[in-house]
Amino acid sequence: MICPICKVEMAVVEQDQIELDYCARCHGVWFDAGELELLLESMEFKGHGLSLEKILSQPGAESDEKKHRCPICGRKMKKAHIGHHPQVLIDACPVGHGLWFDGGEVHQLVGQLAGKAAGDTGAEEKVTSFLGEAFKAEK
Ligand SMILES: [Zn+2]
Ligand SMILES: [Zn+2]
Repeated sequence: MICPICKVEMAVVEQDQIELDYCARCHGVWFDAGELELLLESMEFKGHGLSLEKILSQPGAESDEKKHRCPICGRKMKKAHIGHHPQVLIDACPVGHGLWFDGGEVHQLVGQLAGKAAGDTGAEEKVTSFLGEAFKAEK
């Protein structure tokens, strides 16, 4: 798959049956439909209320950020705010192919969710190790 920002081929990284496309240049990450949910479930984050469907049913976020195109269908993606303060601005394919996170945004979201999971101090480490492992595969 081609990075919607850099237009270079992304690396496929796979762990726990979740396949992500990762751009080594801008550190952006593409989640196919359903993969974000799978990732969050595998981290045992419950009640996060995040799904591609929900994200697409929200009104588009106002943003000066350039609109990127879906790497699958080429349609302009919709900007959406997810998470809590500060919100993470992601891009979602309007027909539901998946979600694009700019570099660092996955960590930002996961950090928030981990912070929310009171008493579960292992969650963030788990995610960091997941992403760390996953992103090592880029070489
Ligand atoms: Zn890129
Ligand atoms: Zn699409």
